Amino acid sequence: MTELLDGEALAARFREELVAATERLADAGSQPTLATVLMSDDPASETYVSMKQDDCAEVGIEARDVELDPTAPATELHDTVDELNADPEVNGILVQMPVPDHVDKRRVLRQVNPAKDVDGFHPENVGRLVAGDARFKPCTPHGIQKLLADAGVDTEGKDAVVVGRSDIVGKPMVNLLMQKAAGGNATVTVCHSRTDDLAAKTRGADIVVAAAGVPGMVDGDMLSEGVVVVDVGINRVDADTEKGYELVGDVDFESASEKARAITPVPGGVGPMTRAMLLYNTVKATGQDAGVDIDLP
Ligand code: NAD
Repeated sequence: MTELLDGEALAARFREELVAATERLADAGSQPTLATVLMSDDPASETYVSMKQDDCAEVGIEARDVELDPTAPATELHDTVDELNADPEVNGILVQMPVPDHVDKRRVLRQVNPAKDVDGFHPENVGRLVAGDARFKPCTPHGIQKLLADAGVDTEGKDAVVVGRSDIVGKPMVNLLMQKAAGGNATVTVCHSRTDDLAAKTRGADIVVAAAGVPGMVDGDMLSEGVVVVDVGINRVDADTEKGYELVGDVDFESASEKARAITPVPGGVGPMTRAMLLYNTVKATGQDAGVDIDLP
């Protein structure tokens, strides 16, 4: 039987823990606050931000909604980040990516106060993650690590293949899996668009994390019996549905399930965990400000 790694259920449990944590913080006189900054009129970005705000409300985090005209000069975004950095009531800052082309994304990432950088994208936080001393682990790979741990998937000594080397998923996933720490100690291979013979790499893996943004690219033929498969992909493909599309992962679920001992569904696998870990990082940031230690099981 293939086990379905249910991110929805684990994220719900984490949200319950976070409700208790925000209550503890309230007792200590702290109200966790996440500022979301949206400089885009892309419907997908708007949806992501509003989902994050709804999630915040559910666990007792105040969401501060900042929206900027996507045609405004870059200085407007930089000024906004400066203000949020300086605001003692704001514990976490999330600048929704992508920002418009005329804005220097790297400058924005460097500008967010590292202690409020709940995405974990500031170079200081990236460095701390690599050094094994993470302040905030990036939400998607951290959520995957928690999901694997909850399912009893031991990564120690295992061969893990990460498909994708992006700054937000692939690279931090590689780092977490290789750390000398719980949920790490794996032997990690990172594959990407220039990788030769991807299937040969994935066939040798005990754990495959697919984060390429290519619908259904990892199928059962590329996997060995008993593998654990984590599908990060969220891809819109045309479909005969009300919206005219459906969301599919980077893994061909049907054929991969025939080989896998455990697999994440899309939707309902990695996505809800990503959202839960953003809430966790925000509550943790508030705890750090208030001197209250916050952790998840
Ligand atoms: P990205 O486009 O920044 O990076 C994709 C990576 O995949 C690149 O490093 C590239 O080298 C590699 N790649 C592309 N084509 C490949 C191929 N044919 N073979 C091997 N490697 C290939 O994407 P990203 O931001 O890392 O996101 C990846 C996917 O995960 C997307 O579908 C995205 O929507 C999804 N995503 C999901 C969540 C979630 O919470 N579930 C979070 C972030 C991203």
